[in-house]
Amino acid sequence: MKVAIIGAGASGLMAAGLISNNGHEVTLFDGNEKCGKKLYITGKGRCNLTNLCDKNTFFENIVRGEKFLQSAISRFPPQKVIDYFEKYGLKTKVERGNRVFPLSDKASDVISTLVKTCKNVNIKLNQKINNISKNFTIYDEKFDCIIIATGGKSYSATGSDGSGYALAESFGHKIVEPIPALVPIEIKQDLHCLQGLSLKNVQLSASLKGNKTISEFGEMLFTDRGISGPIALTLSSKINRCVPDEIYLDLKPALNEEKLENRILRDFNSNKNKQLKSVLLGLLPRRFIDFFLQNIALDGNRRIQSITIEERKRIVKSLKRFTLKIKKLYPIENAIITSGGVCLDEIDPKTMQSKIKKGLYFIGEILDVDALTGGFNLQIAFATAMAVASNFEKE
Ligand SMILES: Cc1cc2nc3c(=O)[nH]c(=O)nc-3n(C[C@H](O)[C@H](O)[C@H](O)COP(=O)(O)OP(=O)(O)OC[C@H]3O[C@@H](n4cnc5c(N)ncnc54)[C@H](O)[C@@H]3O)c2cc1C
Repeated sequence: MKVAIIGAGASGLMAAGLISNNGHEVTLFDGNEKCGKKLYITGKGRCNLTNLCDKNTFFENIVRGEKFLQSAISRFPPQKVIDYFEKYGLKTKVERGNRVFPLSDKASDVISTLVKTCKNVNIKLNQKINNISKNFTIYDEKFDCIIIATGGKSYSATGSDGSGYALAESFGHKIVEPIPALVPIEIKQDLHCLQGLSLKNVQLSASLKGNKTISEFGEMLFTDRGISGPIALTLSSKINRCVPDEIYLDLKPALNEEKLENRILRDFNSNKNKQLKSVLLGLLPRRFIDFFLQNIALDGNRRIQSITIEERKRIVKSLKRFTLKIKKLYPIENAIITSGGVCLDEIDPKTMQSKIKKGLYFIGEILDVDALTGGFNLQIAFATAMAVASNFEKE
């Protein structure tokens, strides 16, 4: 079979290698001057290529498309992805949270391994595809099948600029609105003084429609105008389709209100002549204290003995539920992943084939699937690539 794959990213490269090594004639197009440009920046240049967790944990980390992905992930689970890379010479290691990285810590080694699998593929770089004819002709060349692997639309300098959605639409596919996921959250309060500060072991919560509350525990980071870091990114993926006005920060999640109040009472009783801001040093990072007190309208220079019971209770309540007012999510350009994409109702989950046009397939982030950080998104790209390859058995 003569197969065209649009997009030489994670999923396109994997599919091209698998299908060409089954004896099919594969042409791989990419608009960039080199393959796998987004892969270079994954995992801060180290590429967290999958997550070696059990199946249940894996699906707990899928935000959209959980049911759709069951078949593809079962067929090509994380261990098989690791085995595949190791077969082609990439040594891997497992780190905290089951995150899998190349032993070399170099994303470029993941790309060169994928490119190595493509030795029989006709790779055409600097060829952005804006049009595919109904009979699968691209630049005057006719193909039997087309696989669209053009990714999402964030970090567009990597080539994933959302142009694949128009290709999908040209064949009659519906696109679920692409919106940012795993993205920093812009906050209304002025956070300039906190930029670069990270808070560890805190809990971020949001109230969703129907009185449902979601909470994430761990580390967060203040940016110039918002919050980022693991728990903020995770939360963003869970609130992006209905962004609430506020989120709440529990600065002392290990202590309930009563225990925290007792702790503060003890601190206050033994430091009656000290300034409030210096006593709070036992509970909060120095840089956060001024901001915190300003937001709850208390002067940090006041002596502890002048703090009223009501004010002390206000401090306790705010440590447990500090309100951050949301302005909006950062733009999609800054998102690690795109939520939304080709509507899953129109795709066969076993084969990735379009239900609208025979011989047309979609894999990777262009689909309306997304997951949390930890290697899950690349695992999705690889598993959907394996699923599409199942259509092209050995010739
Ligand atoms: C900063 C950052 C860090 C990340 N880190 C991780 C991580 O550590 N682990 C993880 O699991 N996930 C990570 N991700 C997500 C992961 O990179 C993507 O989910 C994954 O690359 C998607 O694979 P894909 O094949 O669908 O698309 P991509 O890898 O984005 O590839 C799409 C390719 O298609 C090409 N293309 C697009 N349109 C056209 C067109 N019209 N014509 C020709 N070519 C076209 C592009 O040039 C690109 O090469 C990260 C993302 C970002 C932005």
